[in-house]
Order: sequence, then C-alpha cells, then structure tokens
Amino acid sequence: MSQTVSMEKIVSFCKRRGFVYQSSEIYGGIRSSYDYGPLGVELKKNIKEEWWRRLVHMRDDVVGLDSAIIQHPRVWEASGHTGTFNDMLVESRTSGRRYRADHLIEEATETDAEGLSAEEMTEIIRTDDRIKDPADGGRDFTEVRPFNLMFETYTGPVKGPENLAFLRPETAQGIFTNFKNVLDTSRVKVPFGIAQQGKSFRNEITPGNFIFRTREFEQMEMEFFVEPGTDEQWHEFWIEERWNWYTSLGINPDNLRRYEHPEEKLSHYSKRTVDIEYNFPFAGWSELEGIANRTDYDLKQHAEHSGENLEYIDQTTNQRYYPYVIEPAGGPDRIMLAFLSDAFTEEEVNGEERTVLKLHPRIAPIKAAVFPLSKKEPVSTVARELYDDLKGDYRIFYDDSGSIGRRYRRQDEAGTPFCVTVDFDTMDDNSVTIRDRDTMQQERIPLAAVRERLQKLISG
Ligand code: ATP
Repeated sequence: MSQTVSMEKIVSFCKRRGFVYQSSEIYGGIRSSYDYGPLGVELKKNIKEEWWRRLVHMRDDVVGLDSAIIQHPRVWEASGHTGTFNDMLVESRTSGRRYRADHLIEEATETDAEGLSAEEMTEIIRTDDRIKDPADGGRDFTEVRPFNLMFETYTGPVKGPENLAFLRPETAQGIFTNFKNVLDTSRVKVPFGIAQQGKSFRNEITPGNFIFRTREFEQMEMEFFVEPGTDEQWHEFWIEERWNWYTSLGINPDNLRRYEHPEEKLSHYSKRTVDIEYNFPFAGWSELEGIANRTDYDLKQHAEHSGENLEYIDQTTNQRYYPYVIEPAGGPDRIMLAFLSDAFTEEEVNGEERTVLKLHPRIAPIKAAVFPLSKKEPVSTVARELYDDLKGDYRIFYDDSGSIGRRYRRQDEAGTPFCVTVDFDTMDDNSVTIRDRDTMQQERIPLAAVRERLQKLISG
C-alpha cells in the first residue's frame, strides 16, 4: 500500500474507474449516498460471496437466511433499539451544525467519551475550552440529547402511529426472530449458525469518510448459537476465523489489529466484544467488524416480548436451554474500502508511473482480460473463441483497442490479475502469453491450458 494515499485520491480513483459514484450526482448529489459502478458492484459482490463461501458453503454447521427489511415494530422494542439505539447529538448555535457529542469531545480532548451520559457530555462541552465548533470555532452549544438512529416509515396509505414502522438498523434481529423456524425446518443442532447479508439503515448524525459510514449500507452478520459455558471458546474461534478470512484474501496483517472493548463500554447485550480494526491511510485504526458474545440476551428478549418459547431442546439429553450467541458482524461497503486502500499502489516501472490495484484474484472484479494483438483475422477469431470459452466461469474482459501497454495499464488499475494475449505466433504454436499483474512476468502457455491455469491461479 502506498502510505500517502489520501481519501481524495481513492474517491477520485473510484469515480474515474467506475467503482463508486456519488449518488444522484446529476442533481448535485445527496450526502452519504453512493452508487456502485460496473467494477465496484463486482468487487462488493465478490467480497460478499467470499464471506458466504467461507461462513456458509464451506461449513456444515451454518445455514443462510434472508429476512425482511421492514419487520414488526415490536421486534425493535424487544431488541432494545427503540429505547437505546441512540447517538448523542449536540448542535452549535453559531453555525447551526449538528455533531456527535462524543466525537466532538474525543477530537478536542483525545479522551474516550463513548458511553458517557448526555448530562456528562453537556457538562464537559460547557466547561472545556478546547471544544470548539469545527465549522466556525464557536463555543455556544445546545444541551446534548440522545438521538435515535432508526429510520421511520409508514406501512400502507395512512400515516398514523398505528402504521409506524422502521427500516432495520441491523440484520441480526431477523435471525433471532427466525430462530425457531430454522430449527423446525432444517436439521441444525447446537452449535450452529445462521448467516445473513443485506441492507441496513441508520440515520447517522455524521456520516462520512466516503463509504466507511453511510446511512444506507450492507451488513454481513452471522449468529452462532452455542451451549452456555462453551461460548468463550467459540468466541475465540470466530475472532481467529474472521481474522484469517481477511489475511487469506490478501489484507496485510500489519494493517489489522484486534480491539478489545473495555468492560464498562460494552453494549447492553454483550459479555465481551472484540473488533477487527483496519489502519485506514486516511482515518487511522477503525472498526471493520465486531465479534460479540451476545449471550442469551436476544432470544430471551424475543421470548418475553412475543410470548413464544424460544428455548432449544437438546434431543440427546432432553435438556432445555437458551443458547448463547457469538456474532461476527461486518459491513461489505466498509470492508471494500479497506480492500481498496490495501490494494491501491502507485509504483514506478521503467521510469513510468503505474497505478495498480493488487487485489486478491478471488475478489478482483475482472479475473482475466483477453487481448488480441490485432483486430484482424485470424488473431481476433481465436481471441474471441478463448473469451467465449472463459466467460461463463468468471467476469472476463475483452479488449482489442489501443497498444498492448495501454491495455495492460487499464487492467492494472481495474485490479485484473491476469491478461492473456493472442498474437500472430499463436496461429503457429497454439500458445498464448499470460501476464501476471503484480510481477508483470509473462509466460507462454498452450492455448488449450489457459482455462485450467486460470482456475488454478484464481481459486488457489
Ligand atoms: P460504528 O462504531 O463504526 O458506528 P458499530 O459498532 O455501530 O459501528 P455494528 O453495529 O457493530 O457497528 O455493525 C457491524 C458492522 O456494520 C460494522 O463493523 C461496519 O462494518 C458496518 N456498519 C455499521 N454502521 C455502518 C455505516 N453507517 N456505514 C457502513 N457500514 C456500517
């Protein structure tokens, strides 16, 4: 990774190469909303697929689920979101801007303010001269008050309190409310997990850092149900497992660390939480995902609020109990930003600057490009045939315009790990050149071996 890569550079690169655009740009854009372009949608999809492959398809103790975004409002009462899913909001009277009070305090005083009460934060902001409105330096603030992050909406034509509903702020609760359904309709036995990916919504007071924090985003969450008493071991297992997922996909381990939540700052449902953090070049160490021991809190809450018995019955021992839950919870948008930051490289090759995205082949948006050296027959026909042969397996790109050097540079920027060139010699020796993005080494291999070679290189 180039240590100097700035947020501006990543943002403009993402726009220029079709990874991420500002949403509604032709109308001036809307803050904190982003659209994923042709390369970005492939990259994010690959990240989600790798997560699903590793957590669901590679295991026989995890099943998948896809629950609704709009759920019964009582779900959010039971989970605690209606009462406590708040950030502390403060408004500057001089600029009219709103801030997260904990962030304002932390930035000015370099102390940890998370978890303080509204009254405590109000007092600190009132008395500490270092805390100023970042917009105009003013020191006239309102009282700090809790602000609920859930997006409200109404179901049906009548906008009344009886039709009030929420867009889910996390995917996890849909898993808990379906716990019994999954138990009754599949053959899972504790310990087992239910995994889910999908959109979540939070009305963040200060979204920012590009796709790191937005109001609409995706989550990848898995609730792993275990027998109480085995929860601490399983927690360690999943922290390790999730760490290995990042490094196996090429993230530099020097840019990863564990962050242990101090006991007094734990969420109301958590016995222990460890975050995996990434050292973003523009934001420093920040959470990529949290791995929490949620205990039996959620199942018990839903049992109490719904009146359903959500206990697990161990068929062998006939014991009934509420399982404990280990939850790895991450977001593919934020994780994609980490992969992009880690892979973005500017280097000098033979006196020329090249920009290259050194993405792991498994997540690279385009796996290989096929270049005919000439647009003419028979080179172009052979190249087309090769492209047609490969394209069902992966996203493959066909490019016959510009010099080979320029075509390589375009693919380097897109993160395409392999380029295959069909040239005039191919007609005689039935071989092609395959070029590696990172080493730029070229190798001559038989045309008939390309497919198998790519499979090996990509899938490992
Ligand atoms: P933060 O402290 O950064 O607000 P959080 O601890 O509230 O995050 P969780 O509730 O643990 O986040 O959500 C799990 C994951 O979902 C996060 O690790 C992150 O990857 C992703 N996520 C949460 N909020 C956002 C957001 N506003 N934009 C993008 N991704 C998000």
